[in-house]
Amino acid sequence: MFLKQRPSQLISEIPSHPKRQSRRRKSRRHFNSVVIVLIAIVVIVIMPASSFRNSAVSAFRSVATVGSPKRHARNVQQQQQQQNGCLTAQQLLASTSTNEYESDNKDESSREQQQQQQQQHLVLVGGGHAHAQVIKALNAASRPQNLKVTLIDQKASASYSGMVPGCIAEMYTHDDTLLHLTPLAEWADIEFISDQVVDIDLDEKKVYLSSHNNQEEGKKGNDDDYDEDDDTNNNTNNPISFDCISLDIGSTSRGLDDTPGAREFTIPTRPINKLVERIAQSEQDMMEENKRNEETRPPRIVVIGAGVAGIELSLSLNGRFSSKFENTQVTLLDAGSELLGGESDIAKATLQNIFSEKGISVLHECKVQEITEDRILARVNGKSTAIPYTHCIWATGAGAHSLAYRLQEKGLAATKHAYFSVNEYLQSTSHPFVFAAGDCCNIEGLPNGPPPKAGVFAVRAGPVLIENLTGYLRDSHSSTEHMKKFVPQSDFLKLLVCGDGRALGLRFGQAFVGRWVMEMKDSIDQHFMNLFKPENLPDLSEGEKFDTSQYDDKLATKTNLNPEEGAALLSRADDDVDYKDAFAVIRTMADDDEYCEKTLSFMKAKTAGVNRG
Ligand SMILES: Cc1cc2nc3c(=O)[nH]c(=O)nc-3n(C[C@H](O)[C@H](O)[C@H](O)COP(=O)(O)OP(=O)(O)OC[C@H]3O[C@@H](n4cnc5c(N)ncnc54)[C@H](O)[C@@H]3O)c2cc1C
Repeated sequence: MFLKQRPSQLISEIPSHPKRQSRRRKSRRHFNSVVIVLIAIVVIVIMPASSFRNSAVSAFRSVATVGSPKRHARNVQQQQQQQNGCLTAQQLLASTSTNEYESDNKDESSREQQQQQQQQHLVLVGGGHAHAQVIKALNAASRPQNLKVTLIDQKASASYSGMVPGCIAEMYTHDDTLLHLTPLAEWADIEFISDQVVDIDLDEKKVYLSSHNNQEEGKKGNDDDYDEDDDTNNNTNNPISFDCISLDIGSTSRGLDDTPGAREFTIPTRPINKLVERIAQSEQDMMEENKRNEETRPPRIVVIGAGVAGIELSLSLNGRFSSKFENTQVTLLDAGSELLGGESDIAKATLQNIFSEKGISVLHECKVQEITEDRILARVNGKSTAIPYTHCIWATGAGAHSLAYRLQEKGLAATKHAYFSVNEYLQSTSHPFVFAAGDCCNIEGLPNGPPPKAGVFAVRAGPVLIENLTGYLRDSHSSTEHMKKFVPQSDFLKLLVCGDGRALGLRFGQAFVGRWVMEMKDSIDQHFMNLFKPENLPDLSEGEKFDTSQYDDKLATKTNLNPEEGAALLSRADDDVDYKDAFAVIRTMADDDEYCEKTLSFMKAKTAGVNRG
């Protein structure tokens, strides 16, 4: 029923709250029933018997055929002809019993019957990076008519982590980083339940929600990721049945409960939307404290965990705090012996230069043992050390979700760290009706092992998941004929915000630095987010095949520069580089091995020349 509406019309009709959605649905149903009853009364009281029969039939049809535009148009035409006196009641009856209409009617009713018999229910748990694309593709106009889709997420908006470090560095607002699920689901005519999934019955194929639990047990769900401030939870009294379920629930902060004081005193990176709020709050607290005291305390920011996220957070926090507080000091604690362990020497050296330029210090071989209100107690190179802090960020990487542990106990295949085990079709290796994508799963059987927990893989899994969920349901759950294997790329462009308007890019064993790298990152991130903004959602036309293209297919461009010119461009760090030209070189390198090899040899020669010089 949302078909053909302009997005702006949609937005003005979109309720912000699921309870309101269901109230609106109920009142629509109520309104329809009242209209039918009124028509029936008018017809019984006022009309003679023969015209009663005909009008009641056609009135009923016009209500029943909403959603079948062809039939609805014919009914309207017939009603108009009748009103104009062109068709008598008998003619109307006769016209509705022509062979053409009869067979159409039979087809329609047998199709409706078939649809009812084979009605399938797909439940999407979590509106993460992969599911956002599934929701968009399986909109009312494109999904099979017998497919009902329900989305469940504990939050009304999902965080796009790619823009979070930029938001911390105050380049974006918090809202810029959020993908609003309510209007997206509303546009797709997908039911959105804003609640937390606490359990799944794999035998009965039923999903249990936190609000259901609360009603039964009189308490709130105690999951760490539960958003206490979120008032959008529905009261769903009954568990939700499904035919197929897909999980894109992300991950949690690893080890937060294993280190004394970590949960109490640090700011964990997950849930990621809380990270932004907590950092803003801690900055505010410090400003107020400094105002109250005569002597101001400089920020001592310590980031625990030196993976890519920890490195990027050190840079963005340094950018944010040093622009507001004098003598800001940022320290990164690394359990290993070097940063960017799997990257090239050029990449490591470039990062080292940026850290030195900004005065960010790194403690390698650092094992954190306890955190108190103002100190981190650790062993650094085997020696006990107390590291003072004002702000401590827990960035130790991804850990499995509590729901994953629960489902593992119930027999759902999972790794020893409780990541759902899926095959290359993103289908559970133990329960074929369960699919999973993103951080929450491990893809088994890949020659190079499962990809790392990064949003880019969740994004790339989206289109494959769309094909496989619909393929699974289409083939009566029995074959992989209409499914596609997910082949994660072996390397990907890593883009790290430097916190000063520049970004650091890592790909092909090379490092790129500059404002143009930040502009390129911004254009990629904004392009992804724009796909889901209500104002950009297209008008839907019925019967359109669902879209399974990768989000950046339309960004594909080929460079006109030869490898030597391409290498020269990527080596530049000045502000005059046009990021579009540089991005075209990078994309051509990714698609064309020969071009890539030649460009790299020019870049390496240039670096060797600089080093000799
Ligand atoms: C600071 C930081 C920066 C990062 N930057 C990058 C980057 O630049 N590039 C990159 O590739 N990766 C980056 N990552 C990693 C990236 O965040 C994750 O890999 C990515 O978010 C995983 O996406 P996902 O779709 O699996 O899950 P998520 O995006 O985490 O989505 C999970 C969704 O499930 C919902 N949910 C969870 N549990 C339940 C439940 N029980 N019931 C209902 N709903 C539930 C959540 O509310 C959420 O909306 C970064 C991580 C951090 C911490």
